[in-house]
Amino acid sequence: MSTFLGMPHAPRGVGHLRGDQPFPVAARTALANAQLRRNLGKATRTIRAKRAAVVAELPDWEELRAAGQAIKRHTLAHLDYYLEQLESRVQEHGGIVHWARDANEANRIVTGLVRDAGAAEVVKVKSIVTDEIGLNEALASAGITAHETDLAELIVQLGHDRPSHILVPAIHRNRAEIREIFLREMADVDPGLTDTPAALAEAARLHLRRRFLSARVGISGANFAIAETGTLCVVESEGNGRMCLTLPDTLITVMGIEKVIPSWRDLEVFLQLLPRSSTGERMNPYTSLWTGVTPGDGPQRFHLVLLDNGRTAALADPVGRQALHCIRCSACLNVCPVYERTGGHAYGSVYPGPIGAVLSPQLTGVEDNASLPYASSLCGACFDACPVRIDIPSVLVHLRARHVEEAGRDRRLPTAEAVAMAAASWVMASPGRYAAAQRAGRAGRALGRGGRIRRLPPPLSAWTAARDAPAPPAQTFREWWRHEHGDADGSAG
Ligand code: SF4
Repeated sequence: MSTFLGMPHAPRGVGHLRGDQPFPVAARTALANAQLRRNLGKATRTIRAKRAAVVAELPDWEELRAAGQAIKRHTLAHLDYYLEQLESRVQEHGGIVHWARDANEANRIVTGLVRDAGAAEVVKVKSIVTDEIGLNEALASAGITAHETDLAELIVQLGHDRPSHILVPAIHRNRAEIREIFLREMADVDPGLTDTPAALAEAARLHLRRRFLSARVGISGANFAIAETGTLCVVESEGNGRMCLTLPDTLITVMGIEKVIPSWRDLEVFLQLLPRSSTGERMNPYTSLWTGVTPGDGPQRFHLVLLDNGRTAALADPVGRQALHCIRCSACLNVCPVYERTGGHAYGSVYPGPIGAVLSPQLTGVEDNASLPYASSLCGACFDACPVRIDIPSVLVHLRARHVEEAGRDRRLPTAEAVAMAAASWVMASPGRYAAAQRAGRAGRALGRGGRIRRLPPPLSAWTAARDAPAPPAQTFREWWRHEHGDADGSAG
């Protein structure tokens, strides 16, 4: 065993956790794309309605959420114990366990295993963690072709695109766009392909079937790993995952260390929470479970890669660590007003939406994803929807504070924001100064159109760069009070 747990310096996450542009810049581009907003609005509305209907069927939904939260809390508090138990059980059943500190190490391990198997191609079942570490690119640079087999991931791969949603990576594409991608990229596709869902699914099925039958190596992620028996679990909707998990001779599973759960009893809770929160189904159409290697049945070589990539660093933060409870259902994305308008690409990280805004900065270090904790209105819809009760708004505020503290530590001069706050504090400490400031602020009415100010001069431009400011009212509250009650102070009530 070569676990990295207990290392004095937890490794930082690398890979596709950080975008080229900060969120406000990327979001501006996304917001200008009307087709993208239509696609996102339609898809998230549909998933939200399905989720709400199946959640309402369970009278003990809140108790299930509390149970999921308690199991995750307990597991993370004893993560070293459960990971080592998982490792022992997997080995007892003929599997081999590898520990990867970061994306580079995980990619090296997987590439070596594929080479050892003598394969130049692999089939993959949807695994966001392999997107996180940039596995496909690492394999490609070693001359190995990775074929995504989940339909949405296949669309993203053929479109030379990036996933924009945890569960529906091609949510930003509509049917007409998918048809165009298939006609352009699939050499064997019927040129008369229509854009009906059945025709598109059939085209993908025919395209993938040959890959499944010839693949010698399959690569998967894992939704859960049960420590007490060493059993891995993948849930999916299409059955392609099952082919990846059973047909190749070698199976390599890459799993973030937070996916371990103690027992089968715990799995029962998550198998109720996850499908209802993600696809709005009562159960997942395909739930695959396997324990090591079974002679004569399924893959005869099984490797489990346990990935840190910043997770132990997140674990060290008593507030932020709850982001590791996430079961990747994507319910928080579907209810988020920011995600619904910008889509996933604007977040830069493979983990978009509210969970991405709290997870990615912790995996990379807050300063490397500094804009993400601000990509929220703090409305709290994500907390209400989360099946494991992650208090995302509190973590967002906590990470903003960490960012301000960390940025301030290296700075000799105070920021414009700190100066503005000190000035506001001075003004608000005196009724006379406050009244004078209100009178002065009324000059700002000249900048307003339709009650909103879209652009303010520096340093206030930092506010209007991302949002409008309300134009000052024609009458202040104090003036209204004096008019109504004849009280010159206006501070009563
Ligand atoms: S944070 Fe909660 S709602 Fe969001 S993806 Fe994770 S488990 Fe689902």
